[in-house]
Amino acid sequence: MQASAARSPGLRAIVLRGLAKRCARCGRGPLYTRWIDLYQRCPRCGLLYLENQGDPWFFQLLIDRALFILPIIAALFFGLHRSSPALFVVFCVVLVAVFFVTTPHRYGLCVALDYYSRLRFGSQGPPEDRVDA
Ligand SMILES: [Zn+2]
Repeated sequence: MQASAARSPGLRAIVLRGLAKRCARCGRGPLYTRWIDLYQRCPRCGLLYLENQGDPWFFQLLIDRALFILPIIAALFFGLHRSSPALFVVFCVVLVAVFFVTTPHRYGLCVALDYYSRLRFGSQGPPEDRVDA
């Protein structure tokens, strides 16, 4: 019990490591070989980043919708496209640019949250790494 709490990072550390494109477990290994080409395992600690390729889709959908789709819907709802079409176009271009620039960080966050969910709720993680409830 004590050993697993010492080995498992907390949610805050896992989130920060994911955003920094680092292994959620050790925080040292890189997530990617290049832009968003994910290593299969952490080069430092050997953690299998994804057990299945589609595992982080739920977190990806939530984060992308919250950060990119909802602002566009809000802008449309409040009539930005009618009141100031040029500003609406700039707004959309900035969102698309932010989308591409932050893709490795957002995907890293999703991989990290998937790791956390495996530890916290799943039976897939190694028992010694599970977060105690
Ligand atoms: Zn690692």
